[in-house]
Amino acid sequence: MTYPGTHAAGRRSGTPSRSGGRSAAVVPPRVPARRGPAGRRAVLAVLWAGLVLAVLPWWLQTPDESLRTTTATLTAAGRITGLVAGYLLLVQVLLMSRLPVLERRLGTEQITRWHRDIGVTLLVAVLAHVSFTLTGYARLQRQSVLAEAGILLRDYEDMVGAFVAAGILALLGFTGVRAIRTALPYELWHHLHLSSYLVLLLGFGHQFAHGQQLFRPGPVRTGWIVAYLLVAAALVWGRLVLPLRFNLRHDLRVADVVAESRDTVSIYLTGRRLDRLDLAGGQFLRWRFLTAGRWWQAHPFSPSAAGNGRWLRLTVKVVGRHTADLRNLAPGTRVWAEGPSGTFTAAHRTRDRALLIAGGSGITPIRALLEELPPGAALIYRARTPDDVLLHRELDWLAEARQTDVWYVIGSRHDPGPRQMMSPEGLRQLVPDLTERDVWLCGPPGLVEATVRALRRAGVPRRQIHLATFEL
Ligand SMILES: Cc1cc2nc3c(=O)[nH]c(=O)nc-3n(C[C@H](O)[C@H](O)[C@H](O)COP(=O)(O)OP(=O)(O)OC[C@H]3O[C@@H](n4cnc5c(N)ncnc54)[C@H](O)[C@@H]3O)c2cc1C
Repeated sequence: MTYPGTHAAGRRSGTPSRSGGRSAAVVPPRVPARRGPAGRRAVLAVLWAGLVLAVLPWWLQTPDESLRTTTATLTAAGRITGLVAGYLLLVQVLLMSRLPVLERRLGTEQITRWHRDIGVTLLVAVLAHVSFTLTGYARLQRQSVLAEAGILLRDYEDMVGAFVAAGILALLGFTGVRAIRTALPYELWHHLHLSSYLVLLLGFGHQFAHGQQLFRPGPVRTGWIVAYLLVAAALVWGRLVLPLRFNLRHDLRVADVVAESRDTVSIYLTGRRLDRLDLAGGQFLRWRFLTAGRWWQAHPFSPSAAGNGRWLRLTVKVVGRHTADLRNLAPGTRVWAEGPSGTFTAAHRTRDRALLIAGGSGITPIRALLEELPPGAALIYRARTPDDVLLHRELDWLAEARQTDVWYVIGSRHDPGPRQMMSPEGLRQLVPDLTERDVWLCGPPGLVEATVRALRRAGVPRRQIHLATFEL
């Protein structure tokens, strides 16, 4: 079957450009875990229950009569928004702890989305807390709001830290606006973002010194302190202990760097006990290459082949300074990796058959995933020019081994051929049983968004669409 701007390569034979891995044909498909939505719902239920528990003491300790005056209502609103803000801050840090149970149940993309949404709510709650409390106290003391702020800063314990924490949060909220975020260098934005741990520390004291529900010893205060300790423990476990264990166990090093095209390289890694690496095709890790000038940056890349017990491979497209620099990695370079993360795996499928859609370097997790899905998948690979098609021979070989139909859809997104192919009708024409398949989609954000719209219009249920956008 041939279409304008494409050629079909279904069930062609060939050999991989790099041999030595186990044959894809013998990789058994993983049992579907089908835990995506259920896992998400369970985590959501726990988080909502936590929010109820956080504000319950206020509810129980605040009689209706005490809210008769405007001043009392304002200070009460200050207290309740303070409790909500304190709780949401803990949730934010927990979501960033990389705790495996959260990564498995939610997936990194979902966690990132929640983190962004909760971040906005947290900022609103903090600003409301500051405004209500200041106005309420100012009315109570018959002072102006500014004068009251001065009194709080001067006379109240830990209040300077609390104001600084609110300021940092406002700054983080500002840099979270998409246009500002994308204008900043990623590393600057990321390091600014790490100051949210400081917010946790700076905001801690004033809650216990002045919080109506927390300053008295008792079960509420103890529960709140335990919640802080648990979140801190999750952070240490997910961010320090697990990565340390992983890297001591596997001791990864660069074995070779191979050019795949004019702007893409594959980095082969070796290490110890790679047969015990718990890596599913489609997952990613955050990689640090331990040389002067590189060690301080961790960048996410998805291995472009499923685990084979002997080597790992990253296939990296040059888009900026760091990726350009990776072309010069010397064999033997030590590598520090954190992960694996992500639910873009065969274990999260809901159907027996799959359609994989990759755009550009988005082929990397798709290529690995293909090895672990049951035979009979279909793959659509979208690329601007034939030179942008990566791992071509390998894909043809895999197509043969896994009885997969592969379509290369080549051309600019303005060309009528590819546009037609990626439309709901075009997709249905290529894969008539589209709605009966899980769809795994990875590529640039624009392609992903447009394709999700086309898939939805073609009738594919949202729960069958699995996304990886290469954006965290
Ligand atoms: C889950 C995931 C898996 C990925 N897998 C692959 C892959 O297999 N192959 C591949 O070629 N690319 C992959 N990427 C994209 C890759 O991480 C970026 O292209 C790379 O980090 C860009 O770094 P740079 O300094 O060269 O470019 P820059 O010009 O600095 O960055 C380009 C864009 O990449 C993103 N980015 C930059 N640095 C980071 C960072 N440290 N962490 C997260 N995002 C960052 C930002 O959105 C930035 O706007 C993946 C991204 C994600 C999120």
